[in-house]
Amino acid sequence: MTSDSRTDTRTHVLTVSRSACRWPIGEPGHPDFAVCGGARVRGAYCDCHGAIAYRRPRETANSLERLASLV
Ligand SMILES: [Zn+2]
Repeated sequence: MTSDSRTDTRTHVLTVSRSACRWPIGEPGHPDFAVCGGARVRGAYCDCHGAIAYRRPRETANSLERLASLV
């Protein structure tokens, strides 16, 4: 169980620092469950996870409309 020569920012959910991204990775309750651990940029998340978490509802509605018009 030693695979840490790579730069993996994943952090255990209980040890994540306040300045780290809290984006969950894996299944809650699973032993491998962790959080992203990247540098926080948007709210509680790093830049890329913040983009997902704080996606504007209008964009979601637009993409649903786009999907609907394709049918
Ligand atoms: Zn993240």
